[in-house]
Amino acid sequence: KTAMDTALFTAWIEETARTVAAERERLTGLDAAIGDADHGANLDRGLTAVTTALAAGEPGTPGALLVLVGNTLIRKVGGASGPLYGTAFREAGKTLGDTPEVSVARLHAALEAGLAGVRKLGSAAEGDKTMVDALAPAVRALEQAVRDGKDPAEAIGAAASAARTGSEATIPMQARKGRASYLGPRSVGHEDPGAASTALILSALHTVTAR
Ligand code: ADP
Ligand code: MG
Ligand code: MG
Repeated sequence: KTAMDTALFTAWIEETARTVAAERERLTGLDAAIGDADHGANLDRGLTAVTTALAAGEPGTPGALLVLVGNTLIRKVGGASGPLYGTAFREAGKTLGDTPEVSVARLHAALEAGLAGVRKLGSAAEGDKTMVDALAPAVRALEQAVRDGKDPAEAIGAAASAARTGSEATIPMQARKGRASYLGPRSVGHEDPGAASTALILSALHTVTAR
């Protein structure tokens, strides 16, 4: 079974950077429909900076790594998603503390703290058509996986799948937070870009955990 150690978390972030670069145009296309067409570019810029920071020296623990990711995203991503994702990664990293190996239960606690950080900063609830609509169901799926005693790959597979389903469920929603809310009813019928990128981030974690 895969150990969720610093190497695994580093692989996650590298896989996330690769996936976001590959899906940059799709994310930006989603944002073109209900926002300002920069979500893919915003995240790609932030994650490229993260990759550069990691090349200069990897942090020694999963927690320190996630804090570095969060700080870098806050510094480099101009849009709303920068501070929100930055806070999510920072809070998740702080929750992991200096543990060298992360259990599914610790991962759940970390993502739960990340979600709480996003909610506090952006005050979005589920149903507002934001990244919360992907992240919240993913956190619940992880919680269930902990109760069921699932191994990391299975647990994270369930979380990634819940995030994807949650993101697709934003299509019929009317946005109540962020730029898309300016469109009112015209925001209906499009997938939320931030929910879509949250699904990608969790899918990247599943990819590296299932290797
Ligand atoms: P901007 O809207 O500033 O251009 P991005 O395009 O990078 O920033 O990110 C947009 C995404 O950020 C949205 O699709 C949504 O998921 C997320 N978002 C925006 N505002 C909020 C909020 N208040 N709470 C949670 N997520 C939000
Ligand atoms: Mg945007
Ligand atoms: Mg913008």
